[in-house]
Amino acid sequence: MAHSYRELLSWGGRLAMDEELPPCPEAEAALRSLMQGNAHYQEHSRNPAELSDLIRLRTAHEGQHPRAAVLCCADSRVPPEHIFSAGIGELFVIRNAGNVLSAAALGSIEYAAAHLHVPLVLIMGHRGCGAVTAALQKHEEPGALGELIAEVRVGVGRAHDPRQAERNNLCHSLESLGESEVLRDLADRGRLGFAGAVYDIRSGAVELLLDEDAS
Ligand SMILES: [Zn+2]
Repeated sequence: MAHSYRELLSWGGRLAMDEELPPCPEAEAALRSLMQGNAHYQEHSRNPAELSDLIRLRTAHEGQHPRAAVLCCADSRVPPEHIFSAGIGELFVIRNAGNVLSAAALGSIEYAAAHLHVPLVLIMGHRGCGAVTAALQKHEEPGALGELIAEVRVGVGRAHDPRQAERNNLCHSLESLGESEVLRDLADRGRLGFAGAVYDIRSGAVELLLDEDAS
């Protein structure tokens, strides 16, 4: 790949915390393992991860030690465990339509970081996101859906192009992580890294983002 995982995490860290964060080798290793899992998924279109009663019982007994917290869209075509070839106990996943960093989502990420000690927070948007498409339209949905779309609209900003809108929305969620003192403290001590990605629902590829992708 053209960019090192350290560069990708450095970009994610600057976007999330608005400062240069110390390197986090654990986050680099986690990001590398996720991308290796995605490469396997693209090549084989199957998930080799362990789903046995053995791993179920082991994690029930010993607790969970996930490699990363992943915030992504609830879209049924974006299943993070399959995309990253991960099994039981490997990913702490938070999903909602449009990968919005709601209070519930941020609290869940704080839990994963502070109590489960995940070294990496990955926020992943995707191509063809219906929530972003809805946010680009003038039509107003009733009820809580309308409130959700309004949140996505804030993330989309002034973008009109769907791809740019997806990137803006993703970057907005990454930037909003900076509201968390819990995450900031862990990141400042080199124990937490941040990355942003877009998933292509046609190819199965996860593309990690850098400066030139942000608006
Ligand atoms: Zn979506």
